[in-house]
Amino acid sequence: MTDRYSRQIIFPGIGEEGQRKLSNSYVVIIGCGALGTIIATILVRAGVGKVKIIDRDFIEYHNLQRQVLFDEDDIRNELPKAIAAERHLRKVNSSVEVEGIVADVNYTNIERLISGADLILDGLDNFETRFLINDVSLKHKIPWIYGGAIASSGMSMSIIPGETPCFRCLSVSLPGGSMTLTCDTAGVISPAPFIIGSLESAEAMKMLVGAKKVNRDLIIIDVWEGVFQRFKISPRGDCPTCQGKYEFLEGKFGIRTTSLCGQNAVQVLNPEIKQLQLEELAARLKPVGKVTYNEFMLRFTVDNHEMIVFPDGRAILRNTTDESLARGLYAKYIGA
Ligand SMILES: [Zn+2]
Repeated sequence: MTDRYSRQIIFPGIGEEGQRKLSNSYVVIIGCGALGTIIATILVRAGVGKVKIIDRDFIEYHNLQRQVLFDEDDIRNELPKAIAAERHLRKVNSSVEVEGIVADVNYTNIERLISGADLILDGLDNFETRFLINDVSLKHKIPWIYGGAIASSGMSMSIIPGETPCFRCLSVSLPGGSMTLTCDTAGVISPAPFIIGSLESAEAMKMLVGAKKVNRDLIIIDVWEGVFQRFKISPRGDCPTCQGKYEFLEGKFGIRTTSLCGQNAVQVLNPEIKQLQLEELAARLKPVGKVTYNEFMLRFTVDNHEMIVFPDGRAILRNTTDESLARGLYAKYIGA
């Protein structure tokens, strides 16, 4: 064991004691795309004792450009991301307890899924679930590390309950429109999530070994522009989450789905989106699927799924009764 970790034990920030702390730690990674695969790779190789990886998706060819844990065999074997990640990582380090969970993380199951964790890491591609992690983190006093990447840019910040501003405090300072951008419409190049995933992992190691200098700023990078910035974020006096109101965890917000009986369709509502400019949405979706629209509705077809979107943010996914698929597609293409 000492030999496997000798290079990080020599590093003064870790040492023998730090290594022991890592091996006694339990982290949960939510989302196993580009960010999640980087984070899981680093933490499993570093010898974190238990790593749980939660993801709801299967692997597709367009994932391989940046999701480092997966290969073409995983796609041929039709493996969910969480399972493929678990299999690969067990071969990397058999002394780590790696657990892959195929699940859609939502307000009904998140408390059970993160129970007992020392730290939660964000490998997500949507804001809705981040607010949920934020709630559960503050409620159960488990720190979490936010990270997001899109196009050539990315952001990260550590959230320590009772010490730092929370994600809801931060969200009011985020640039307008970032809530509805997704990798499926804006694209992403791998260096952006690789750097953000690495920053999240470094912060995780620091927190787990009890290093004093945890990053309290928002870090923003752009690998295409060569920009690396940090911003002080102030706590918000009127932040509901900091005041103990866990509205996302209560299921008050977020994407809602209803199966439309007899119609073989699922309706999706997102109270966060009050109004959609169908023209803008059409321009965003055009590169990824077939889009037609008028002033009343937009019809979007991608991967054999047909979605009708209305200006009030409501959408109907046709020819399915799968509510989790509908929620996923909505988060992916319309926004969360
Ligand atoms: Zn807050």
